[in-house]
Parts: sequence; C-alpha cells; structure tokens
Amino acid sequence: MARIAILLTDRCHPKECQWECQAYCPPVRMGQECIVEGPLGKPIISETLCIGCGICVHKCPFDAIKILNTPTADEAEIVHRYGYNGFRLYRLPLPAPQGIVGVLGPNGTGKSTALRILAGMEVPNLGDYEHPGSWDQTVDHFRGTALQAHFQRIARGELRAAIKPQYVDRIAESGQRLSEYVADAGGDATVALTSVGLAPRASVPLAELSGGELQLGAIARTLATDADLYLFDEPSSYLDIVHRLQVARVLRRLGQQKSVLVVEHDLALLDYLADKAHLLYGEEAAFGVISHPLPMRTAINTYLTGYLRDENVRIRPEPIRFTAHPPKPPALRTARVEFGPMEKQYPAFHLRVSGGVLSKGETIGIVGPNATGKTTFVKMLAGVEPPTAGTPPADVTVSYKPQYLKANQPASLRDRMSALANDPQFDVAALEKELVPALRLDSVLDVALTDLSSGELQRAAVALSLARRATLYLLDEPSAYLDADERMNMARLVRRRVEHESATALVVDHDVYFLDLACDGLMVFVPEGTSGAAGRGDGPFAMREGMNRLLREVEVTFRRDPETLRPRINQEDSVLDREQRARGEYYYEAVA
Ligand code: ADP
Ligand code: ADP
Repeated sequence: MARIAILLTDRCHPKECQWECQAYCPPVRMGQECIVEGPLGKPIISETLCIGCGICVHKCPFDAIKILNTPTADEAEIVHRYGYNGFRLYRLPLPAPQGIVGVLGPNGTGKSTALRILAGMEVPNLGDYEHPGSWDQTVDHFRGTALQAHFQRIARGELRAAIKPQYVDRIAESGQRLSEYVADAGGDATVALTSVGLAPRASVPLAELSGGELQLGAIARTLATDADLYLFDEPSSYLDIVHRLQVARVLRRLGQQKSVLVVEHDLALLDYLADKAHLLYGEEAAFGVISHPLPMRTAINTYLTGYLRDENVRIRPEPIRFTAHPPKPPALRTARVEFGPMEKQYPAFHLRVSGGVLSKGETIGIVGPNATGKTTFVKMLAGVEPPTAGTPPADVTVSYKPQYLKANQPASLRDRMSALANDPQFDVAALEKELVPALRLDSVLDVALTDLSSGELQRAAVALSLARRATLYLLDEPSAYLDADERMNMARLVRRRVEHESATALVVDHDVYFLDLACDGLMVFVPEGTSGAAGRGDGPFAMREGMNRLLREVEVTFRRDPETLRPRINQEDSVLDREQRARGEYYYEAVA
C-alpha cells in the first residue's frame, strides 16, 4: 500500500538530533535510500520505499514525522501539494452562485489553502510541487466540472473575490484607523460598520481594538467590498455569543444576494448560516479531502455520526451524542462551593456578581457579551484579582486555565509531566492515561510548548489544569483555537473529569454546542447601563433558564434536532421562532 510521509519542517531540527529517523529505518539498514538528506539539510522520506513501520515516527525526538496510509481519494484529485513530504489537498469546495456554502473540518487540513485558491490568491500546482501551477492548467484540470467556469473567470481576471482572513490580529499592524481600513475596500464604510455594530468605534486606531473588534472590523471590510464571491475564514473567533449571532444574520442577508463560502468551527453558527456544507477529512498537516456538498442538516448530523456514507469514510471512531440532560432535582444536588456577592471596581468598569452555589459534579458555563466582567469574576475566584467588596470562598482548591496563554519555557509536555510526577497536587496518572490521549496530545508530547500551535497549546493547558486535584476548576475560553471535533471532545472530557473528581467547574465559553455538551447550568453576565462601564453576573441557573436570559437579549431561539438532540438556531421569523418567542422559550425544553 502506498504511504504518505510527512515531515513537519518547522519541528525538524536536524542539527540537534542524531538523525534517528534515518539510523533506525529498516529499509535504510537494508541499504535502501528510504530516508536521505535533502538539499535543505533535512531528511526526505521516500514514499515508495517506506514500509510504514512507524519507527521513524517514534524515534524522532521532535515529533516531526507522520507516516499515514493514503486516503481513499484518487491521486489525480490532488489540487495542491506543499512539497514532496508536504501537505496535500484533494478536491475543492464549490461555491454556489447564490447562497452560503459551509466548510467544516479539522485544523490543518487545508481549509485556508482551499479558500485562497478559490479566491484566485494562490495558484494550485495540482500535485506537481516542483513547478508552479497556472490558471490555464487549473481550468484544464477542472474541465467538465462545475469549477471550470469559476477558474476561467480567474484566468481571465474577471472574478472579484473578497476574503476575510483567518488571522485578524495581523491587520492591527497596518497603523490605520478602523474607518480607513474598512473604507479601503471601496464600499460604504459606515453602512458596513453599522451592520456589525461597530460604528461608534470608527475613528479608533486598529492597534487599540480588542480581538473581537478586529474580527468585526475585518468582517465589515469584506462586506464593504463589491465582489462576486465572499469568503469568510473563521468569522466567529474572538466574538462573544451575542456578536456571533449578529454576524450570522448579517452574513445570511449577504448570502441572499451573493455567493458566499464560510469556514467555521462553531457548529450552531455554521448550521444556521449555511445552506449546504462540504465536510473535510484528513490528518492535520498531512492531507485533507473535501467531501461532496451535503444539505446543512445532513452535513452536521453526518459529521456528528462520524461516518461519511457517500464516500464510505469514517471520519471519527465514535459518534458525538448530545443528551438532553434535564436539571437534577434539588434533592440530588450537594453544594460543593458557595460564593457570596462580590464586586470589582476598575478605573473604568464596575462588576457586581450575586452570590451562588456550585454543586458537586456539576459544570457551569459562564456566558455573556464581551467586557461584562466574566474574566474578572473568574480571576477573583482564582485569587488572581482581589475583589473590591466581598471575599472569594476560602477553603477551596482552585485550578485555573486563563484566557490568554503564553508558553515561555522550552520545556515539552513530557518534561512538565516528569516534573509533576511526585507532586501530590497533580494526578499524573490521569494526565498520562486519560487527558493526554483524550485531547490527542500524544503526537506533540516532545514538542517544546513554545513551538505548539495555538490549538495545541490550548489543549495542553486544559490537560494540565484538569490534572490538578481541585474542588473548583476555572476554565476561561477553553474552546478558543480548537476545531469542532476538539471542542466536542473537550466538552465531554471536562464534564467527565468534574463528575469523576466530585468537583465543580466554571467554564467561560461562547460556543453553544460546547456549552450544551459540557454544562449543567449557566451563569449569565450582562452589561449594566448603556455606557459599557458596568457589568452584572447572576446565577447559576438551570441551562434553559440561563439560555433564556441570554437569548432574550438577542431575540434568537433554539430548537433541538429530533435525530441528534443537538441545538439548532431557528430561522428568524419562522413559525417556530415566532411561537417560541411568544412563549418566552428561547432555548428548547429539556426532555427526559
Ligand atoms: P486549515 O485552514 O484547515 O487549518 P491550512 O490550509 O492553513 O489548513 O493548511 C493546511 C496544511 O498545509 C498546514 O497544516 C500546513 O502543514 C500546510 N501549509 C499551509 N501553508 C503552507 C505553506 N505556505 N508552505 C508549506 N506548507 C503549508
Ligand atoms: P469579559 O471577560 O466579560 O470580556 P473582562 O472581565 O475581561 O470581561 O473585562 C471587563 C472590563 O474590565 C473591560 O471593560 C476591561 O477593560 C476592564 N478591565 C479588565 N481588567 C482590567 C484591569 N486589570 N484594569 C483595568 N480595567 C480592566
């Protein structure tokens, strides 16, 4: 069987190792040139001579090699390949002439590459990584398919594409004010900024905007562009739940007139936004295959089931199951942590939190718009930030995962595990046997924490905080930078771990599927007054009541999918939406 051999070049440090990959390779020891030194001084692994033993994968001290079986897709379907031992993308998504097409798949499987190719920003090499591709060759490659006309327009310079890039923090470097940055797109900046609720910030320099504001700014600029095709790469990152829903509405309106493609990991959002979606399967940094498009509901249900029937491909060993866990009767709940009312006064912000009770084994979500004090509240409980009034509970052991992570040591996760081996505060056995495998960290155990991607660092930080023996776990935005699969996985893990430890947890997050899977209840944070200078936090409430309080503000209702029990956003003004709003039931009722 043919193999795919991948070298993660940024992790490969050939001067700092003994070339174990080559030294231990059985074909090399038999005299074959299976692993040789390439022109850049790094190994080249022959895919034809490789026997798939996996010894190099295990021996590499930097976890820089992957050996996989080739996917079921045909080699002729390769659209782009980054080098001999590099990533390869099979097929492309197909934008519809009108309406929104979604793309859903794991991190590092080629979504951004596909978007750049469709936008005409990157010429695909069709697998011939030694020669740059051309648009004429691309047209030939897609001849007879629906993408032929698309690439003909690119080849003739006739396609106008607007792309909202994935990494919005980079735009802050331009030194422009928000209004200038949006106006550069050519359209009406005020209309675009108003549609995303950012008009009051128009004159602020980009460098002074928060991550969420930069995201909204980048979306506004894309909206202000007069284009034939609009591409949005992860529009929900850094946005709070309220803004996610607002943006979803704006994009839906755009899709009623234009061709739109959206890459998104927030399943509730994608489900609501897109009419159909391509699923992507593959292996991070190795290969990605784009499925045929499926109607939206089928796409997400298929994704959750983990089996792509059309192509006979299993994309996950286990299905993801939602359960409509109804609230526990009060008699079965035991208080684990009680906190009294607390307040925090910053120079320009005041937070008031009413007291509450966290029950044994329960995970409580913290939801609300940005800048309402969620992080401040968590920091007060973590003992990082003293309250101005009130006191955090004293006799509680806390494990805290902050919102912003920064690795500042060259140590790897394995080094950290060894260092913690004799620390009674840590359950290192659980870390090794449960948390590392569940969060799929095995393949990066030997990578320096400073070299991990944002998603890997997030998973490592959550693993380490869940390994600490604690009565209260505080996780601030654990789903940031994760793909949908990793989010669902982490949600179930947090829940399981908290139940198993008879502990309790507070989790700040904005992803409704994550919250629905992980949480038994919610604390709700809202702005107080109109100036944005104060916030209030209440709860915990049962899931439905908490969601009702939050969703009432944004006038969005959810129902449950009868087949998978997952939450689904009702279309604005649909019969169900109107009925539910009239009854004040914004979130579905829990069924036993
Ligand atoms: P996604 O958007 O799904 O996260 P990307 O399209 O950004 O995936 O990248 C897919 C893979 O392609 C990455 O994991 C990386 O290994 C590889 N890759 C991306 N850009 C380049 C590049 N310019 N040169 C070499 N490899 C790249
Ligand atoms: P959220 O987590 O809901 O986004 P935060 O707790 O991070 O909200 O912040 C709430 C408000 O408090 C923000 O307006 C922020 O500017 C302000 N704030 C947060 N930390 C500090 C600080 N250390 N000093 C002064 N103001 C702060």
